[in-house]
Amino acid sequence: MQITDTHTHLYSEAFDDDRDLVINRAIENGVKRFFIPAIDSTYTNSMLELRAKYPDKMFLMMGLHPTHVKENYKEELDHVVSMLEKGGFVAVGEIGIDLYWDKSTLKKQQEAFRFQINLAKKHELPIVIHCRDSFDEIFEILETEQSDDLFGIFHCFTGSLDQAKRAIKLNMKLGIGGVITFKNGKIDRFIDQIDPVNIVLETDSPYLAPTPYRGKRNESAYIVNVLNKLAEIYNCSPAELAEITTRNSKAIFKI
Ligand SMILES: [Zn+2]
Repeated sequence: MQITDTHTHLYSEAFDDDRDLVINRAIENGVKRFFIPAIDSTYTNSMLELRAKYPDKMFLMMGLHPTHVKENYKEELDHVVSMLEKGGFVAVGEIGIDLYWDKSTLKKQQEAFRFQINLAKKHELPIVIHCRDSFDEIFEILETEQSDDLFGIFHCFTGSLDQAKRAIKLNMKLGIGGVITFKNGKIDRFIDQIDPVNIVLETDSPYLAPTPYRGKRNESAYIVNVLNKLAEIYNCSPAELAEITTRNSKAIFKI
């Protein structure tokens, strides 16, 4: 079985004490590929170290996370520009809008999102979208920037069936993680109406651990709980779904 975790913050401080053990547990559970979203420039070195240690397993994204769009966001965006120029990144992410933590930076977040979408187009890379309390604002930008070369993943998708269809129409796949296992997660009620060709798996570890680990530190090995739940919903085998979603991830990241 070959499972792909399309979204894991393995460089996070949460893994400083046992990172290699965490990675090995995931590998033992069938996770063969790890896609690593960026947050801001303070994490770039840790990301590069991770890839240097596991070059055939870790694939890095570059971008400025919406909750890290602060006063210095122009300098941060310069960093994203120069790292992308150097090459070796498989996506621009995670980028988007987050109105849960801070509404006061909306204008800056919109500007940074639009700017990074255009970087992705320039470098012919997918985008990985972070969307929290901001579907309208995200769709507004995606719809004005829409083009054949704009595609990617709606990470940690938590919207409605209509929003899912709208995202798919905009060349986005839905990143499905621990929320699918939550009792009040809602997406489990309609995801069977979405063709699995539009889905990729993710953990967003160390966040959003699936049931029965909810509330604890998440790790890539737990993606199996997400896979099993989805296989149950789609009435297929976990191996089959692992294959489909890994294929989808290859279509997006070209790797
Ligand atoms: Zn994330």
